Amino acid sequence: MKISMLGPVGSGKGTQSQRISEKLNYARIATGDLVRDQIEADSELGRELKGYSDRGELVPDEVILDLVRPHLNPAGGWILDDFPRTIEQARILDEELERRGVSLDRVVMLDGPDDDELIERVTSGRRQSLATGRVYHLENDPPPDPMEGTDPGPFVQRDDDTEEALRNQLESWREEAEAIKEHYEKKGILTIVDAGKDVPEITDDILDALGNPQRR
Ligand code: AMP
Repeated sequence: MKISMLGPVGSGKGTQSQRISEKLNYARIATGDLVRDQIEADSELGRELKGYSDRGELVPDEVILDLVRPHLNPAGGWILDDFPRTIEQARILDEELERRGVSLDRVVMLDGPDDDELIERVTSGRRQSLATGRVYHLENDPPPDPMEGTDPGPFVQRDDDTEEALRNQLESWREEAEAIKEHYEKKGILTIVDAGKDVPEITDDILDALGNPQRR
């Protein structure tokens, strides 16, 4: 299946797309990670993108499309995490997939908590592993003991986890969300999932929405 996981910052897209991709053995294509890879590589593009990311502003559509395009493999299952984030990205994605003879099977939109709660969730405990890029939350999805060997960490707070950057991200999400919702509703592939529940319950709701595909 080809899936897109959307929602405001702090709604748990990263956590859920990781869990679903691990359960179904699907590739996960996280546009935020593609942006951070460029920043870490300290390329010319990376230096330009750091400004957008630190401010919580969206990277221009053409740039994000260039980063995503090579990953849109027509074979096999994948989950897009945080893409499309504008209605223009949604339209271009449709065209890109059509050219490859495929289309999105399901768009999962996480929704529910208000902006203050979303910001509180992120600032109170989001951590990212510098080793694997995996996102954790100190309370809701704690990082493993590095001695276990699954992820050695270190687990750090992201540079863009500031209240100002988070408010900017929420504002741009709210500006685009309705149009994106309508776009996929019309296609009959949208499922809205309550992001206010516990992490495992949300995963179950998403798997239900996907028709409980079997592990490959
Ligand atoms: P995230 O890890 O999803 O919170 O994304 C981190 C940053 O990457 C965002 O604040 C944006 O600057 C950029 N970004 C991620 N996904 C997109 C997207 N689909 N369109 C534009 N910018 C994006």
